[in-house]
This record gives sequence, structure tokens and C-alpha cells, in this order.
Amino acid sequence: MPPSCRAKPGRQTGGVSDAPRSAELFDRARAVIPGGVNSPVRAFRAVGGTPRFMVNGQGPYLTDADGREYVDLVSSWGPMIHGHAHPEVVAAVQAAAADGLSFGTPTRGETTLAEQIVERVAPVEQVRLVNSGTEATMSAIRLARGVTQRHRIVKFAGCYHGHVDALLAAAGSGVVTFGLPDTPGVTGAQTAETIVVPYNDLAAVEACFTEFGDDIACVITEAAAGNMGAIAPDEGFNAGLREITYRHGALLVMDEVMTGFRVSAAGWYGLDPVDADLFTFGKVMSGGLPAAAFGGRAETMSLLAPEGPVYQAGTLSGNPVAVAAGSTSLRLADAATYATLDANARTIGAMVTAALTNAGVTHQLQYAGNMFSVFFAADPVRDFAGAQAAETFRYKPFFHAMLDAGVYLPPSAFESWFVNTAMTDETMGRIEQALPAAAQAAASATA
Ligand code: PLP
Repeated sequence: MPPSCRAKPGRQTGGVSDAPRSAELFDRARAVIPGGVNSPVRAFRAVGGTPRFMVNGQGPYLTDADGREYVDLVSSWGPMIHGHAHPEVVAAVQAAAADGLSFGTPTRGETTLAEQIVERVAPVEQVRLVNSGTEATMSAIRLARGVTQRHRIVKFAGCYHGHVDALLAAAGSGVVTFGLPDTPGVTGAQTAETIVVPYNDLAAVEACFTEFGDDIACVITEAAAGNMGAIAPDEGFNAGLREITYRHGALLVMDEVMTGFRVSAAGWYGLDPVDADLFTFGKVMSGGLPAAAFGGRAETMSLLAPEGPVYQAGTLSGNPVAVAAGSTSLRLADAATYATLDANARTIGAMVTAALTNAGVTHQLQYAGNMFSVFFAADPVRDFAGAQAAETFRYKPFFHAMLDAGVYLPPSAFESWFVNTAMTDETMGRIEQALPAAAQAAASATA
């Protein structure tokens, strides 16, 4: 084994496919938690096998209950841009916790985090902190309806905005994986006012407004799609949405829960500065604890209670420990951080492309900033139909070969891969070693 592939002392790299302790923990979990997981994609249903129960995360690595170490290309689905257990983030959390876990009163840290967000994203003058990305998009839509006094919303097929009832129509992420375009429990009435159109299709949006223009409260879009694999908006797409919504008196809600503070200091807005009316944030600004936010111009945000009539609240919103993690993570995220994230994404992407090309596998390595994913497709993928038409059956053996070699990829073909700044040459070496066998496995997969 080359030095770049050696396990840390006392640990093994994930070199075998069985995971007895994870299997035992999964059995226990399934008795008391539906499917054994608290978020469906974690159950490995799309790729099969035993989900790994992780016990430790340090820098770019995760260690599972069987003591196997993995290079982590999920990064907790986005938040961990500095790697796991960054000492300054951990210290900030410990200090905040020592001062008390929750007060149910305003605290200074909340204002600091709000100031950091406002400083980074120019159109955002005020934010309200919430606990999850789902709450952020749900609240943004309520506010958009309150502001416009209109009821319909427009979303894009394959874009996922959390498990908000009205937005679980042709959503991406786990919903795609499980083929549940309309989940039981969400009524027709709840999605009846949601219009779903193809991503990257301005003509379809225009047609929607021609038919329903006076009823549409907002268009919500992922700033760059990451929940059907990584699909960047076509040049001018987000700007086109701005123009159409403005012309029709509707709001534009830019969902930056995934891209926010990950793809640049100002999120996707930093790469493609489109002045949306409302922005939603989560993941990176949480530092890995439950925190998220939505924000916009003060005039719009002032319609929220207690200043305005649109009700929105939360017992643990702005929790001091979560805010300490988020605020410290943002403080650490400087220009060098983004340069490193970009470089790491390009390095890994190039290695994946080289391995798949060597194995003769037709594929598209697609980037949305420093988020990326692989589509087993002949042409670039621009929308959900394209993502679904790809040869996703190749992902399962690819995923398992990487897992067996100690590289933890998203357990679904429809998710983006997330890098962090803690990755070293050794980390890259481990990925490089793992790829040829995985590429061969993808090459020999059959539908
Ligand atoms: N919006 C986007 C773009 C997301 O990617 C996600 C989650 O992945 C959400 C909203 C929902 O966030 P949460 O899982 O924190 O509720």
C-alpha cells in the first residue's frame, strides 16, 4: 500500500464491504426509528447495503462504528466546509454551551450571525434565524404570499427546498431517489397552488406567468441546482427569472441553503449576482448545528411578526450554541477558504473524469461552483428529465467500490458531492487509489 493510502495509527481504512457493528446498530435503530434513519437518504436504499454508523469526524475523515476510516465527500450534506471538528468551531460551541444552552430571549450572538450574513449578501438587509432549511423556505414562501396577497407559487422540477408540503411536488433529493413525486400525506390541495416547470426553461416560466400571472406570489429556485445532481443554471437563467418576476409583480426566492457561503463568500450570489427579493440559507451558516435563515430587504422583512402581520416563530430559533458554531464557521471562511474549496473540487473532479474515461465510461462531470457530481450520460444535463435519463444504475457499484476503498460518497446518484478545506495530498491520494476499481465497476454495471 503506498504511503498516501495508509490508515491512521490504530484505524483501518474501509477495505471490506461488511460492517458488522453498523449492521447491528442499524437493526437496533430500525426497531425504534422508521427505516432506522432520521432522514431517508441515509438509509442507503438507492445504493443498497448497510448504512455506516459514524462515531467520529476529524478534518476530512469519518470513522465508522467498525473503526474504518473514510474520506468524506458528503461533508454532512454541505455544512462542514472546514472539515470535521475544526478546533475553533468546537471551542466556540463549548464556550457557548458552558454559558447556557438556550434562554428563549434575544442574545448577542444572533445579531452577530445576522450581521455576518447581511455583510456578505448585498440584497439581504435583514434575516430571521430558524432551525432548518425547510423552515427557511416554508417561511419565505409564507412571507412572499403575505407581501403579494397572491396564492400560487412556481418551482422547478428536481429542485428540492426541504420537506415543505407545498414544495413536495417534483422535488429532488431523497424524493427523486425514492420515486415519490407526490408523497402520501401531502394533499392535492396543498400542492394545487404549486406550479412545477422544467429547470433552465425560461419560456416555460414565461408561459406560466401568461396564464396565471396575477395569482403568482413567487418563483422559488435553487440558486444552482444541487439536489438532482449538480446542475448550474444556464447563463442568464437566474437573471431571466428576476426580470420575469419583476415584470409581473411576483417575488423571486433564491434558495441558497446548499450554495450559500459554500460556493463563494456570498454564495451563488457572489458568482451570479441576481437581486432576488428573498434568500434562504442553511448548512454552512450553521457550522453543523441546527440553524438556518431567510432574509431580504428590510421593507419586505418588516412584514414579519412582531413588526408586521405575517406570523413566524421558533422556540429554539437563534439557539446560542448553534449560532456560535455558525458564526465561527463564517468568520473562518475567508478568500483562502474558497480558493481551497474550488481547487479541491477541481482536483477530485479531474481524477474522477480521468478514471471513468480510462475505463471507457461515458459520463458528464458537472460543476455548480465547487459542488459537483457525475452523470452517466452522453450530453450535459440541464434539467430533471436529463438527470433521470442518465444511466444511474452505474452509480451503485461505483459507490460501493469507493466505500470499500475508504471513500464515502453521497449514497444516491442524485446528490452533489461536497469538499472541505481540511483535505490534504494524502486525502487526494486515497481518492485516486480508490477510483480505478470503482470506474471499472461502473463500466461493467448492467441496468
Ligand atoms: N433547500 C435546499 C436547496 C436544500 O438542499 C435543502 C436540504 O438539502 C433544503 C432546502 C432543506 O434544508 P433542511 O434539510 O435543513 O431542512
